[in-house]
Amino acid sequence: MKFISTRGGESTTLDGALVAGIASDGGLFLPDELPQFSCQDFTGHNNIQSVATKMLRPFFDGSSLQEELQQIAAETFHFPIPLKVLSSGDEYLGLLELFHGPTAAFKDVGAAFLAACLSRLEGNTETPLTILVATSGDTGGAVAAAFNERSGMRVVVLFPDGRVSDRQAHQLTCWGDNVLSLAVDGSFDECQALVKATLANASLTQRFRFSSANSINIGRLLPQSIYYAKAALDHWSETGKKPGFIIPTGNLGNGLACVLAREMGFPVADIIFTTNANRTIPDFLGGDDWQPRSSIATLASAMDVGNPSNMERLRAVADDDKILRQSVRAIAVDDAAIEQDIRLNQQEFGTATCPHTATATHAWRAMENAQRQQTDWIAVATAHAAKFEQIVEPIIGRPVPVPPELANILARTTKFVRIDADEAALLGAMDACF
Ligand SMILES: *Cc1c(COP(=O)(O)O)cnc(C)c1O
Repeated sequence: MKFISTRGGESTTLDGALVAGIASDGGLFLPDELPQFSCQDFTGHNNIQSVATKMLRPFFDGSSLQEELQQIAAETFHFPIPLKVLSSGDEYLGLLELFHGPTAAFKDVGAAFLAACLSRLEGNTETPLTILVATSGDTGGAVAAAFNERSGMRVVVLFPDGRVSDRQAHQLTCWGDNVLSLAVDGSFDECQALVKATLANASLTQRFRFSSANSINIGRLLPQSIYYAKAALDHWSETGKKPGFIIPTGNLGNGLACVLAREMGFPVADIIFTTNANRTIPDFLGGDDWQPRSSIATLASAMDVGNPSNMERLRAVADDDKILRQSVRAIAVDDAAIEQDIRLNQQEFGTATCPHTATATHAWRAMENAQRQQTDWIAVATAHAAKFEQIVEPIIGRPVPVPPELANILARTTKFVRIDADEAALLGAMDACF
């Protein structure tokens, strides 16, 4: 299987795409063709690891990791991904809970897959591979958790000091061992700029064997298709119906993964992306020109994205914007509606939902009756409500119980170093700590 840049001819194997992260022409890697599956292919594949092994096999064609695929699938899906029924009958609504991993958000899936692959490809105990990651909240914790205690690998997490939630800060700073947590005196954009500048410095990259684990790496995307495939196969075999998915969306990695699952032949009906008040995607799919803009701050902060990078991939997959606009839709949900849905989900379903997940249930409630009844809908829960308790608890008027995975993390002691947003400070902190 070849992986091709969205911007031109550059092509590589899966291994090359995983290690490079981004193509040298600035484009994003996509498989040159998608394998085709039918539901019958998965008869007897009853757990998600076995679905993953079968589904990923063609992508590993030509990879040095082929023999280890089964083990990689097991390391990726090491926690449950249950589908909870919120409403049954004519108005079916399921909730696909992607938040049972170590850091209680769906990013644990992609991070675990990437760690399983990169540690095998590039792990080196003499000169470890050092993953640099800038984070606005969730990604850094997931990457640190996934790479923690893997030999031959180190992680440096940069986060904007004072601008992440208390529990997110805890998840970014509780690892020790091979993870260095840096509280940067600056914004997320400054953290990201520092990482980009460091990665672009060839002599540094060589000396430290720097690499990145950002959200455009194909290794974050591929495993995410698998939970859509599995949920769709299960629903299809239980009811004979193809479910539609409603997906909280920021950078469009999770939503794109669902589109890929449908393109590969899995029984997925409609796909709806929900954004917060950052309207770049809904405006474009509604017919406007593609117009990236600065992001605005909302309650669903992990989706505060004004220039979603995976749109470049989605447009490449669809070939033509007109076809694309017929095959997916997007709806923007403002903060008032997010608050309202957090309240309604508690009242009507007895479920505390995070602000991101509330955008998806909102889209379901806002549908015309006929549309709600025509398809069985699955809303995607991207994070546990306890991660955003400062928003959710005042709205529902009660505490959100902390799940065991998150409690484990909150019980760990934290350690971090404060630095200025410049390269000398970054290198100084690395020298002092590793
Ligand atoms: C990252 C994130 C999102 C957005 O996912 P994308 O793949 O960037 O669209 C939504 N919800 C939560 C909780 C997240 O952490």
